[in-house]
Amino acid sequence: MTPATVVRLTAVALAIVAVSDVAPQARGHAWLALTALALVYGLACWAFPYGKCRPCKGMGRFHGGLGGIRLCKRCDGSGLKLRAGRKFLNSLRRHARRGR
Ligand SMILES: [Zn+2]
Repeated sequence: MTPATVVRLTAVALAIVAVSDVAPQARGHAWLALTALALVYGLACWAFPYGKCRPCKGMGRFHGGLGGIRLCKRCDGSGLKLRAGRKFLNSLRRHARRGR
């Protein structure tokens, strides 16, 4: 299990505790932890906007069976993908700029 998977599973568990009656006494702490997690994720997306492209695992290309190479269609051969959180931040920024 990668560290990212552990963080995702923790976030899901916290969300379940925060909105359901599984552990009512821990609900406040769960919301606090979720908020902290969201802030850290937002900062990470601001500092590191790109993640690895998943289909090509950040390589940007695939190797064919006969020694050929073809570029990844998803990332156009860059191996990078804009993270979901950064897309959200960019859309917020666009929205704020349009409002001015
Ligand atoms: Zn790719």
